[in-house]
Amino acid sequence: MPVPTLSVCVFCGSRPGRSSAHGAEARLLGALIARRGWRLVYGAGDIGIMGEVARSALAAGGDVFGVIPTHLMQAEQGKHTIGTLVVTETMHERKKVMFTNSDAVVVLPGGAGTLDEFFEVLTWRQIGLHSKPIFLLDTDGFWQPLIGLVEHVIAQGFAAPSLREFFVAVESVEALERALGELLVPAFGTSK
Ligand code: AMP
Repeated sequence: MPVPTLSVCVFCGSRPGRSSAHGAEARLLGALIARRGWRLVYGAGDIGIMGEVARSALAAGGDVFGVIPTHLMQAEQGKHTIGTLVVTETMHERKKVMFTNSDAVVVLPGGAGTLDEFFEVLTWRQIGLHSKPIFLLDTDGFWQPLIGLVEHVIAQGFAAPSLREFFVAVESVEALERALGELLVPAFGTSK
């Protein structure tokens, strides 16, 4: 398999959610990552919309790098049929391995775990530990309450206005493809 041009870390729910739109967008994203020759970095589970992203990427011949802690191998059905499976001791280690092996982060709808992952990379960005782009896939406005909360925190003086600039909400996988594709332009002088 050729070396991927972009490694995309996807944080997302371990449940399917109520709206079938989320699973559909997850499948589109997995297929997109494979079609563009990028690499999917994810939590290595086979459940919820995380499973949807991975199965779709694999079905389209994509490169998939999964990271899961030992204690979740059973609960999240750790996926052995992916290109690389890293089993960590802790949740913290999982996040770190996922993040350090990625060029960009995409956050799909999810629950507390997904929120934890989003805030971890956002706060790392806030204190200057990295400059990797963070995208929220805002299917049907799913993330608007979160964006409102961040704006409230800024308005109340508990974060600098720059916090809002550290992530970008995109409304569809199509818009996400354009945004991710643009990341390759400055580095390589051409859009891939
Ligand atoms: P959820 O959004 O709650 O369905 O969780 C999404 C994913 O985040 C699942 O794979 C969880 O195991 C994972 N997760 C939950 N908490 C953490 C954490 N503190 N660090 C890393 N991953 C987590």
